[in-house]
Amino acid sequence: MSIYSPSIEKLIENFEKLPSIGHKTATRLAFYMLNCNDETAKEFIDAIETARKNLKYCSVCFNISDTDPCMICANPKRDKSTICVVEDVKDIIAMEKTHEYKGVYHVLHGSISPMNGIGPEDIKIRELLTRLQTGEVKEVILATNPRVEGEATAMYLSKLIKPLGIKVTRIARGIPIGGDLEYTDEITLLQALEGRMEV
Ligand SMILES: [Zn+2]
Repeated sequence: MSIYSPSIEKLIENFEKLPSIGHKTATRLAFYMLNCNDETAKEFIDAIETARKNLKYCSVCFNISDTDPCMICANPKRDKSTICVVEDVKDIIAMEKTHEYKGVYHVLHGSISPMNGIGPEDIKIRELLTRLQTGEVKEVILATNPRVEGEATAMYLSKLIKPLGIKVTRIARGIPIGGDLEYTDEITLLQALEGRMEV
């Protein structure tokens, strides 16, 4: 038997579904939402609704954005001749935090993982190849995560892209093996970017 009323229990349960939220934190968040004023609660609910309604994928790089193309693709100061390929939208945020990268991105929305039945056609590889056909791109930086799937994806892409006469680089080690770009600090990520090697 739960010590909480069913509606509180339900709220805790829903917070618990969020990534990296355990039962204790979920309980704390649930009670915060119950005890805050109506306006704060409403603002929170509205923010989720608005974000979910307005956000779409950039048709160029597949970043999540309020606009299409996204702010990065639409920025004339960004160097369109360099594309940094990442697995996830959150990796863009990690790269942007280095304040050093001036090129554009391509979000694959996953990595090749035969174990999980994810093949090249299930992620945004075809879209990447289409982007490369303009002849504008001089370098593709493979910044997939240093895990088995990320490495396999990088290797697969390198084999596809190199014959097109485009320079293909892979961000340097230094990011812990099995790590996530998302959780890598800016300095390490910046070093990995600067130390990228041609593959
Ligand atoms: Zn974009």
